[in-house]
Amino acid sequence: ETEYDAEFFRAWMTAAASAVDREADRLTELDSAIGDADHGANLKRGFAAVAATLEKEPPATPGAVLATAGRQLISTVGGASGPLYGTLLRRAGKTLGDAPVVSRAALAEALAAGVAAVAQLGGAQVGDKTMLDALTPAAEALGTSFAAAREAAEAGALATVPLLARKGRASYLGERSRGHQDPGATSSALLIATLAEVAA
Ligand code: ADP
Ligand code: MG
Ligand code: MG
Repeated sequence: ETEYDAEFFRAWMTAAASAVDREADRLTELDSAIGDADHGANLKRGFAAVAATLEKEPPATPGAVLATAGRQLISTVGGASGPLYGTLLRRAGKTLGDAPVVSRAALAEALAAGVAAVAQLGGAQVGDKTMLDALTPAAEALGTSFAAAREAAEAGALATVPLLARKGRASYLGERSRGHQDPGATSSALLIATLAEVAA
């Protein structure tokens, strides 16, 4: 079975920074419909800081890469998504511990622990039209394959369109939040797609 080292996780975070940069306008457009039009800019700033830090001081283990990335997101992103994504990566990193290489199954478990921490911090559950709608099925499907995780995340993000937002700024819109794809679920699908690409 393939094992993934710190270099792989660094490549994931670097590719995520590129993907977020490329898709920033689309993420901001989604956030302008049901939020405050800053999701693209928030993540662009956060992941640029993540990529710069990981390049300057490359951590030695997969867990340290994710924990460092999470800390950077928390300190550079002001919006709700910073602490939430930061918690996701920090908890996932902590769960991986100091193993020099990890299996996909171990990553799936770590991601699930991260998702649980996001749910605890934000008080949201699946169906509330948040990033959890993409991340929760993705973490579960990662037990099967990277491709399955990517498909599950994309399906989860698409499925947020008709939902009523129950958490975050979009919830202020009430019924008017329906008919729009959630920005955070969309960026989550992007992060998982990037993981699948780097693994392929
Ligand atoms: P802000 O709403 O502070 O401007 P962003 O625009 O960067 O922050 O992020 C918005 C995204 O954060 C939403 O689309 C949603 O997916 C996610 N989000 C907001 N609140 C929560 C929450 N309580 N739990 C989970 N995800 C949330
Ligand atoms: Mg916003
Ligand atoms: Mg904001």
